[in-house]
Amino acid sequence: MINIAGLGISGLYIYYRLKGSGFDVNAYEVKNKNFYLPCGFATNKNMINNYLKNINTNINDYLLKDADSVIFAGNNFSAETLNSNGLCTFDKNKLENDLISDINYKNGVINDNKNITIDATGISRYYLKNVKNDDKFYTMEYLTDISDYNDFYFYFLPGGRGYFWSFPLKNKYHVGVGTKNIDDFKLLNKYKKLKLMSRNIRLKPLFDYMFNNNVIGTGESIGTVSPVTGEGIMPSIKSSEILFNNLKKYDDINELKIHYQKDIKKEFGYYILLNNLINNIYNKNIINYNNIKSIKYVKKTVNDFGIKINIMPFIKHFANNKNIKN
Ligand SMILES: Cc1cc2nc3c(=O)[nH]c(=O)nc-3n(C[C@H](O)[C@H](O)[C@H](O)COP(=O)(O)OP(=O)(O)OC[C@H]3O[C@@H](n4cnc5c(N)ncnc54)[C@H](O)[C@@H]3O)c2cc1C
Repeated sequence: MINIAGLGISGLYIYYRLKGSGFDVNAYEVKNKNFYLPCGFATNKNMINNYLKNINTNINDYLLKDADSVIFAGNNFSAETLNSNGLCTFDKNKLENDLISDINYKNGVINDNKNITIDATGISRYYLKNVKNDDKFYTMEYLTDISDYNDFYFYFLPGGRGYFWSFPLKNKYHVGVGTKNIDDFKLLNKYKKLKLMSRNIRLKPLFDYMFNNNVIGTGESIGTVSPVTGEGIMPSIKSSEILFNNLKKYDDINELKIHYQKDIKKEFGYYILLNNLINNIYNKNIINYNNIKSIKYVKKTVNDFGIKINIMPFIKHFANNKNIKN
């Protein structure tokens, strides 16, 4: 028997993968039905479908808006219009509500030291527990009906402290800010709030803190969120697929942990470099060897989100920055 705590995207995905393979699974969730999740709802349509088909779900049934163009702007560089390579928004709330409606989950605390508990509780790491030096950004997001931007828009805040986004939905928009400084939330003041959502987001991989005795983490609880784009949906699904494959292979929990951790580090190890890069920019330590090494991974993580990027204008921007340390 396997317990799953948390039925966000990573918990739901692994629940259906395990059930579909004949595992005995118990699920636990604490949020109210129809809770409006803080999330931009953006993902790479081409990539997500490769995974959702494993749980008999199709992104096209939830699609809100395909990206035509994507604008990247910053306080210190002129806006670049980039092409989409699969970026879209989808109704994540509806998808999760549909998936959860067929699950007879419990609302309570798991007290089971015998069996494996999968911690898919996201930011809270309820069963994995907190670690020192976690790295979270504050976020605030509005659902609104008018935005200054028709297409997908990212505005990078000064000094690597976060970004503002505006993502089109069908007739509405998600506008939001993820930042180290809550004063930046004032960027949202001009927008009408049909709904207001807020929570922290984990932008640090916690791949050395994925276990707590018989508890094994997946998704945002272990930090599968791109430190550059804040993309967490696809990476969290991927982490659950990796865990699922290892659960199928290994009965022994110690062996399972070793192989799962190795596979997670292989897939997402570059997030550690990206998290360091963002912190280096924040600390004005812009040009050093590790940052240069990370640039190809910036391109990778932006491409993975479904955005074609030419990295040169951004390198030039940072290379011209006055605050350079060697
Ligand atoms: C404002 C904002 C905007 C974002 N925009 C995007 C975006 O556009 N695209 C993108 O790819 N990513 C985005 N992300 C990140 C992405 O939403 C998450 O990284 C991803 O959904 C993580 O999935 P998860 O299943 O691991 O965790 P979650 O989705 O957080 O799910 C965790 C679940 O665990 C439940 N839970 C918590 N504690 C307990 C407990 N003790 N017992 C049982 N259940 C519990 C919660 O109720 C929740 O349902 C955004 C994040 C934020 C905050």
